[in-house]
Amino acid sequence: MSVAVPAKTFAQPPVPIFSTSPVYQMACKQLQTVAGVMDCDPGIIERLSVPKRSLVVSIPIRMDNGETRCFAGYRVQHSLTSGASKGGLRYAPSVDLGEVAALSMWMSWKCGIMNLPFSGAKGGIACDPTRMSRGELERLTRRYTEEVLPIIGPRVDVMAPDLGTDEQTMAWIMDTYSMKVGYACPEIVTGKPVEIGGCVGRREATGRGVVYCIMDALHEMNIRPEESTAVVQGFGNVGSVVCQELVQHGVKIIAIGDRDGAILNKKGIDIVALAKHVQTTRTVKGFKEAEAISNEQLLSTPCTILAPCAMERVITAENAGKVRCKLIAEGANGPTTPEADLILQENKIFVIPDVLCNAGGVTVSYFEWVQDMAQFFWDESQVNEKLKELMRKSYHKVRALSLQKNLPMRLAALTLGVQKVANEKATRGLFP
Ligand code: GLU
Repeated sequence: MSVAVPAKTFAQPPVPIFSTSPVYQMACKQLQTVAGVMDCDPGIIERLSVPKRSLVVSIPIRMDNGETRCFAGYRVQHSLTSGASKGGLRYAPSVDLGEVAALSMWMSWKCGIMNLPFSGAKGGIACDPTRMSRGELERLTRRYTEEVLPIIGPRVDVMAPDLGTDEQTMAWIMDTYSMKVGYACPEIVTGKPVEIGGCVGRREATGRGVVYCIMDALHEMNIRPEESTAVVQGFGNVGSVVCQELVQHGVKIIAIGDRDGAILNKKGIDIVALAKHVQTTRTVKGFKEAEAISNEQLLSTPCTILAPCAMERVITAENAGKVRCKLIAEGANGPTTPEADLILQENKIFVIPDVLCNAGGVTVSYFEWVQDMAQFFWDESQVNEKLKELMRKSYHKVRALSLQKNLPMRLAALTLGVQKVANEKATRGLFP
């Protein structure tokens, strides 16, 4: 089903530095589409098109071989309207300002949909963490923290893990920040180790949230999980948990891919055995109990559920027509381009969009931040119960709007997210 967008026009972002990035253009295009179907002051849409604050830093570190190298680092705060800005820190060779800006915008809508008292932010360093030693990564993280210090704080901007970063990265940021302010400050980051103020169940939260959404969608589609098959792209923090949780519900995982290759076993992949293989080889490639397939074949493997849980822009105009599933659950941020979206709609594939589907991570980050502020800690059953409650509530809010207004799920989700931030901006007014 395609949606007719009224011909409203909105001003183009006034910051040309972002405008050439395809990911940022994609995020802006989505915002324009939402603006077309909702009733909103064009001035507010213009304000939401450009991140509030962007910092680019050069991070010099001493490498293990004695050389000095400079890395480009970014922190972008899309908005400061709804509370402290919140979002991950990503280490990948492809990181640039446009990508980080787009991801910060998506974080704003995500926090809005989940009704969290946060605005959106994102950070990143252009580097290849798989080719750096632990010592180099520690120096890189500590120096980055030092460089972005003027714009972060527990009530200002709070980081969390993302692609290529983990609990240890957050521990180094927490320690560096705490050394600067002179007291232990766990609430400066979320997704840190439990022993220094992290939250139980945070690591699994994104994957769990994805599966709560999938279960509700299957129920509505009258499909039993035990009769379903799944294809998962990515076997990192999100993809591996999605696989484990789907298996718990009786879903058969038939194909999995990562950046090095993909594997297929129509009888079902043994996820425990695969996790052991990945622990030693760092890739799903070469797993003996499955056949090797290409990443292109992975996305076109017939299945009930396709879960892209790795990178943005992997389902494109070129391959969307070959996708053979009933349901797409976007564990990654931005895996589907707007052009691909139209093809999926025509082929009647039900999409659970990223800003809703993967919001479990930032939701438990919120629980972690609240616990750190109060210095009062929850147990895992409390965390999981509350996560399930909030995810299901938002899923059904989005679904209800999509049915009521006949909007695709992505447009319904984005409308709720944008509307919340736009309402807050309108109520607060424009300073001075
Ligand atoms: N990086 C995750 C995301 O994209 C989590 C962000 C957070 O917890 O702040 O949603």
